[in-house]
Amino acid sequence: MHEYIGAVHIHSSYSDGTGEIPDIARAASEVGLDFLMLSDHNSLRAKKDGHEGWRDGVALLIGYEINDRDDRNHYLAFGLDKEVGVRIPAREYVRRVREQGGIGFIAHPDEKRSSMPEHPPYPWTDWEAEDFTGIEIWNHMSEWMEGLTEENKFQRFIHPLRSITAPPAETLARWDALSRGRRVVGIGGTDAHAHKADVMGFFDVEVFPYKVMFKSVHTHVLLDAPLRKGDEAHFEEDKWRIYDALRSGRCFVANSYHADPRGFAFYATSATETWQQGDSVMFPGEGKLALHTELPQPARMRLLRNGECVREKEGREMTQPVHAPGAWRVEAWLEDRGWIFSNHIRIGDADGHC
Ligand SMILES: [Zn+2]
Ligand SMILES: [Zn+2]
Repeated sequence: MHEYIGAVHIHSSYSDGTGEIPDIARAASEVGLDFLMLSDHNSLRAKKDGHEGWRDGVALLIGYEINDRDDRNHYLAFGLDKEVGVRIPAREYVRRVREQGGIGFIAHPDEKRSSMPEHPPYPWTDWEAEDFTGIEIWNHMSEWMEGLTEENKFQRFIHPLRSITAPPAETLARWDALSRGRRVVGIGGTDAHAHKADVMGFFDVEVFPYKVMFKSVHTHVLLDAPLRKGDEAHFEEDKWRIYDALRSGRCFVANSYHADPRGFAFYATSATETWQQGDSVMFPGEGKLALHTELPQPARMRLLRNGECVREKEGREMTQPVHAPGAWRVEAWLEDRGWIFSNHIRIGDADGHC
């Protein structure tokens, strides 16, 4: 399979980000990203203005971030030609995005940040919503702000990547629980704005440059055939191949800051077949399936079934016979730093429940 790295959830000058889109694309290109998913607040204007396409070898995909009338329930929607409506309840925009053929991800569902009054938390509250494609399990900006204190402020502004540790445990637990009933795809977002802040009371700091943000939390997609980079004639087709990989969970979340995650694999095999991340398979009985993890370098692997750690192993490879149905996924840690978070392989009963 062909692996491509993207930064998801980016704001530009079309909403509250400071960067112009061509400069954001150049920054992504300079750090070696393959695709960018822009999501300005409540508007697809950047797309209507023709910014979508190949830019500096990066596929620039444009969606938008929807919120409700209380500015809660942020939803990242992609694959749409027009906005789905304003001032409507969250479950309604979730439904409309799907109806219009798009994909959508609940943004920063358990956000709690409180360190900067001008950036209050925007958690997801409408859990009656159905049919969302997935959730943003890791949001760089939320994590960074949540850990911010008066004491560490300076260090955090100077080294915005060092303080990023792992997705919130609460969100992972929620994701594991939801995944027992159906496929719920996990993605990682940067939430880059590069907004300016008066940090120490006497100078303006960019919080933080796009190029810096683009070096940590990514979503990697796995495609059957290569992208045709720079080929505008095939852009639409390639864009939908990226969206379809995200829709089907053929992707994983990783923080590239500590080590290069490229080459990671997580799959299930029987005597005759193979299943990838995002796939569902009926439990065929104990010992008839095995789950395989492969890493590009040694790390601590944690294999989870319905959120419970079943096995931990240090190394580059792990094979585990499947003893029971469940929504299975794997994590890789470098000491106390979360590095790679796979999507689930759902091994369920005849109704598809795990
Ligand atoms: Zn948001
Ligand atoms: Zn955002």
